[in-house]
Amino acid sequence: MRTLIRNGAILTMEGAEPELVLGDLGIDGSRVAFVGSPPAGFAPERTIDAAGGIVMPGLVDAHTHIAMSLLRHYADDLPFWNWLFERVMPAEEKLCARYVYDGSMLSLAEMIRGGVTCFADMYFFMDEVARATERAGLRARLSRGLAFNAPGDEAKLDESRDFHAAWNGAAGGRVLVDVAPHAVYTCPPAFIEKASDLASELGCMIHVHLSESRKEVADCLAAYGKSPVAHVRDLGLFRNRTYAAHCVHVDDADIAALAEGGVAVVNNPSSNLKLGNGFAPVGRMLAAGVNVALGTDGQASNNNLNMFEEMHVAALVNKGIEEDPTALSAYTALRMATIGGARALGLDGEIGSLRAGKKADLIVLDASAPHFYPRNSVTAALVYAAQAQDVRTVFCDGEPVMLDGAITTIDEAEARAKAQESAAAMTGGAGFRP
Ligand SMILES: [Zn+2]
Repeated sequence: MRTLIRNGAILTMEGAEPELVLGDLGIDGSRVAFVGSPPAGFAPERTIDAAGGIVMPGLVDAHTHIAMSLLRHYADDLPFWNWLFERVMPAEEKLCARYVYDGSMLSLAEMIRGGVTCFADMYFFMDEVARATERAGLRARLSRGLAFNAPGDEAKLDESRDFHAAWNGAAGGRVLVDVAPHAVYTCPPAFIEKASDLASELGCMIHVHLSESRKEVADCLAAYGKSPVAHVRDLGLFRNRTYAAHCVHVDDADIAALAEGGVAVVNNPSSNLKLGNGFAPVGRMLAAGVNVALGTDGQASNNNLNMFEEMHVAALVNKGIEEDPTALSAYTALRMATIGGARALGLDGEIGSLRAGKKADLIVLDASAPHFYPRNSVTAALVYAAQAQDVRTVFCDGEPVMLDGAITTIDEAEARAKAQESAAAMTGGAGFRP
């Protein structure tokens, strides 16, 4: 189908400086046909009026666990290790395929409403996450989280191989599959090596949590005499193209190793702040040539999948910490959430910016709310004032997944009800409590 999006302010996210095109954008099939004015003979079958609105690439949430929506508002204001080992992991013991599907559908609706068209997810029962993603119409890199707790856990590597065989390239190429050793504190060295070998065998990427907390770094130094970054590098992990969530507690040597290894870092500022883990040195990593993307992490530690909020927090925290208002510009935050995320996930040739020939993963914001006036910098408006609710229309792979505020692929009332039911079965929470 050919779609014409008319009269928008199109922020292309092409190039190192912001580029705003006032005009039209055409979609032909799954791809952007043109940006600017229609070529002769472009006959649209659907026209969307974007007058007064902003058109931009769909946002890339480069690190999350979408089925964790079931644990939203369940374990808050706790120290990281208590949160993870005493609240989250015991609840996750009860997970089953149905709960993961229900939690995923709720999150997919939330992501669509917030303009996310592509995400990277590491979790369990990943066939269900893939099925939900296919149904919702979004794009994702998915991986089975690998932790080694008992001798039989080697079988999880086979599950990863099977998941790759079943889903890599599925949903018209929208779903890709990676290998995900969870973290240095849940995977012993030999297991990390095996995961690394599996990724090499499959030719896929590595998704990992790295240097999230001070305790993780201290424990790794005590056990192996190395930082988590140096530890996994020396185990050969970076032989595979890697995207690493967090990298909060990294020193200059770690940053150099990440740059040298071509590792993309996924900054999750809300999650890091909420769990009291600190803040990643984003400015120093960018200056060292590390590609830094942006993620929400799961809702158990955020508590939403709002990438507009993530851009806002990333920019503000880095300015505050560095005591330098130029530390992370609005456009840099936007790049982290679009083309930077696409590059982290190896997809920048296809998504992350708007130009003819790229996949039509894009969003249209209604910019009529008071916080968009008066008209000035679009990049400042998007990072410092825009709300997820300003997103009105979302296309992924050329298909509309939300049109003028109505999600086309998910029955939201059903998604809410089923997620509530599954969450109640996992945690016992049946309604609001204080
Ligand atoms: Zn995570």
